[in-house]
Amino acid sequence: MNLEKSKKVYKEGIKYIPGGVNSPVRAFKSVCTDPVFISKGYGSKIEDEDGNTYIDYICSWGPAILGHSNQELMEGIEDIIKDGLSFGLPTKVEVDMAKLMVESYPAIDMVRMVNSGTEATMSAIRVARGYTNKNKIVKFEGCYHGHSDSLLVKSGSGTITYGVPTSLGVPEEIVKNTLVCRYNDIKDLKETFEKHGSDIAGVIIEPVAGNMGLVPADKKFLEELRKITKEYNSLLIFDEVITGFRIDYGGASEVYGIKPDMACFGKIIGGGFPVGAYGGKKEIMEMVSPLGGVYQAGTLSGNPLAMHMGYKNLKILQRNKTVYKDMEEMAITLEKGIAENIKNIGIKATIVRFKNMLTLFFGEGPFRNYDDVQKCDTNVYAKYFKEMLNRGIMLPPAQFECMFLSAAHTKEDLEYTIKANYESLKAIKEL
Ligand code: PMP
Repeated sequence: MNLEKSKKVYKEGIKYIPGGVNSPVRAFKSVCTDPVFISKGYGSKIEDEDGNTYIDYICSWGPAILGHSNQELMEGIEDIIKDGLSFGLPTKVEVDMAKLMVESYPAIDMVRMVNSGTEATMSAIRVARGYTNKNKIVKFEGCYHGHSDSLLVKSGSGTITYGVPTSLGVPEEIVKNTLVCRYNDIKDLKETFEKHGSDIAGVIIEPVAGNMGLVPADKKFLEELRKITKEYNSLLIFDEVITGFRIDYGGASEVYGIKPDMACFGKIIGGGFPVGAYGGKKEIMEMVSPLGGVYQAGTLSGNPLAMHMGYKNLKILQRNKTVYKDMEEMAITLEKGIAENIKNIGIKATIVRFKNMLTLFFGEGPFRNYDDVQKCDTNVYAKYFKEMLNRGIMLPPAQFECMFLSAAHTKEDLEYTIKANYESLKAIKEL
């Protein structure tokens, strides 16, 4: 595969951008290869600077749920632009978008738009603290909620303890209020609440974790979490930045039948533009400025173009009754095909699927938490990634991420992917 032009851009990029990329995973470091620079996308495919095409299972990490350059979504974009790009004053489309989101996600009565998932979760925990007048928050090991200081924390060796920063530049004083629990571990959660419950403002969770590879929460675990947060007057915050409007129109809340007090969104609700949102019950959201004392603002928040595109994205999904079922069926086809290949080749790997998301773990399950996934062989994943890339398949360039399907993937894409998977697994077995 010729990647000359990509390499040239990369060489130039590293002079001016840290690692040559604007988000670390794009540097392909953990798969030990140089990044590929993308020039365009259409349907389920993306094309790089050298003209190589790939079946895309990153889908912009979720937002491209209709595939790239979806015709209906793109139509009329010029008309929106010609009216102006940003005013810093309210526009009607922001109200339309907020109404649509509230109608789509029954747990929230009000929503505030921001510019990224990071801002959404950061603001939600601020509101939770302001509303409850408590300081601590609980997060789960292996869950990613963006890069704000107090959420960049994981626990030491799986013990319940005060947070340990996982990034330089995050002061100990900030993360001491972040408690970390084991995902899917009711006992750990209960013990944490028994010890700190009176000072826990809220618990934030990815109800289907997509940032340690794909690790769905047990329904029972989420039910207990709902119960215990109520009992202690702590807010339950679902981080639906990935799952919102993806695993079903109503996100994880609908799939699990659990209503959080607050929810965070991003990705799909921007239709490819930089958007995030956080919402909650009315009395909670009335804490937000200018109504209440929790300050949060944004120059480009509710940007008209982003709102139009997000609104359209949601409307297309809402109208298309079979889109989620179709995507899940495609994911099942992939799951079955890959599982069969693993068995036939006899390699230590496990395919995990939830709705239309998947991860191929190079290890043996079950995968229920961060410790489980850490046992996977990331070197083998790197080899697999490269084999698949050479066959024209773009996978997440890291073991601890997940694959996304879009409505634009086709039967032929899946057949080709399963075949490429067979050849790639065989190649790495023989290495
Ligand atoms: N929450 C979750 C669950 C995410 O997956 C991400 C990003 N992948 C974020 C929050 C942060 O979103 P952003 O990258 O838009 O800041």
